[in-house]
Amino acid sequence: RFDTTYLKLPPDFYVRQAPVPVKGPRLIAFNRALAGELGLDVAALEADGGKVFGGNELPAGSEPLAQAYAGHQFGHLTMLGDGRAVLLGEHVTPDGQRLDVQLKGSGQTPFSRSGDGRAALGPMIREYVLSEAMHALGVPTTRSLAVVATGEPVFRDRVIPGAVLTRTAQSHLRVGTFEFALYYGHANQKPELLKELADYAIARHYPELKDRPTKYGDFLEAVADRQAALVARWMNLGFIHGVMNTDNVSVAGETIDYGPCAFMDEFSAGKVFSSIDRNGRYAFQNQPQIAQWNLTRLAECLLGILDADPTAATEEAKRRLTPFSTSFKTYWLEGLRRKLGLFTEEDGDEALGGALLAWMQNTQADFTHTFRHLNELAGTADAAFSNWHQQWQARLSRQPQSAEEVRQRMNAANPAVIPRNHRVEEVIRAAEDNEDYAPMHALVAALAHPFEDRPEYRQYQTPPKVEERVAATFCGT
Ligand code: AMP
Ligand code: MG
Repeated sequence: RFDTTYLKLPPDFYVRQAPVPVKGPRLIAFNRALAGELGLDVAALEADGGKVFGGNELPAGSEPLAQAYAGHQFGHLTMLGDGRAVLLGEHVTPDGQRLDVQLKGSGQTPFSRSGDGRAALGPMIREYVLSEAMHALGVPTTRSLAVVATGEPVFRDRVIPGAVLTRTAQSHLRVGTFEFALYYGHANQKPELLKELADYAIARHYPELKDRPTKYGDFLEAVADRQAALVARWMNLGFIHGVMNTDNVSVAGETIDYGPCAFMDEFSAGKVFSSIDRNGRYAFQNQPQIAQWNLTRLAECLLGILDADPTAATEEAKRRLTPFSTSFKTYWLEGLRRKLGLFTEEDGDEALGGALLAWMQNTQADFTHTFRHLNELAGTADAAFSNWHQQWQARLSRQPQSAEEVRQRMNAANPAVIPRNHRVEEVIRAAEDNEDYAPMHALVAALAHPFEDRPEYRQYQTPPKVEERVAATFCGT
């Protein structure tokens, strides 16, 4: 059920572009649960979805397009656009939700520059696994509907199998889409593009704002609030996005672009995985400040519509971004309290959490495992931990909730199963080397229930041995 409102934006924002067919499409991952939520014909797609999800056959009603956008990549502005993706359309689900359905790795577009428009199997499996894990963890995210092996090789540092990922999203409106509207609009005497985009984004994601006289300022503040909440969730889970460029920041507030991202194993505040992030710009602890930096780029785009007077517009933009750091802190602390089983608030809670993180950092303790097993660790860890544990127990005793209530709260906030890097690498290797997709399916099944302690998922819960630790992740573009 396509109803693609993006086509009503001025044609500057997109190019009509069909996916380029692939030689031997083979459906290797299909998300039945998501397909069901979308109201699709699950059985038919499972049997014969390769052609549609590989881009060889257009579903009825699809008017495919590649979106134009720009972005600050590692701090530098570039004009971009879907260089290896096409939007099949906006699908309306049975319960009335509007979702973008996009093919990624679907061939060249006018935005491809020197790229081949294709994607490698490994990174598409990575995105499928990580985004579905994120969803099960309750964090706003784009989702993955299918992966098709194309039967065609892609040429990177070596020859690897190609793939197409089908992803769904609230939309693909990025901070970088606003940067495109501003800079392209400026260069082409089309200043009205920015306002048209802002009105479109508000109607689609913040409809409650659309009749307010202060709607553009409200929009900026609302986007900032969703980013604050999102990055706080990442930080509570030890997630490192790895490539927080403005083109990878959704104005709908979803996690988007699972390139070189990773969940931390042993805790380190300055941890960087991405092999392309040489200066650690997107290190774990930098993420809140980077989110704010990205929001400042959005604010710059909006200046012209915030107020006709430039000085007043700048003041308004600043005022709208001021709450960000406090909101982030509040969301993060809320999450930390849940992780520690705290129902009440005390001034010392942040320091208590901070002391635990410092202990993890000093001892290279596993982030996920430590939080999940705080109680059992008391007998086995060192004296510093015992000391911390006593303080924590004392804190717990100052709230009325029972031990059982505390246990339940903690188990609902501290996942047992996360997509650990060494397991993700393992399933990718099996797929790449042997066309064996069973390990991927098993991992995906475990990740669907991240808060459950099932014996059959033990292998996915256990932190990597030192020699199993994955040091770096690769974009693989
Ligand atoms: P990403 O790192 O995936 O966010 O991509 C950044 C930009 O590079 C996007 O505009 C992509 O469309 C483009 N891009 C990435 N890989 C390719 C490729 N293989 N061919 C063409 N464009 C690409
Ligand atoms: Mg991207």
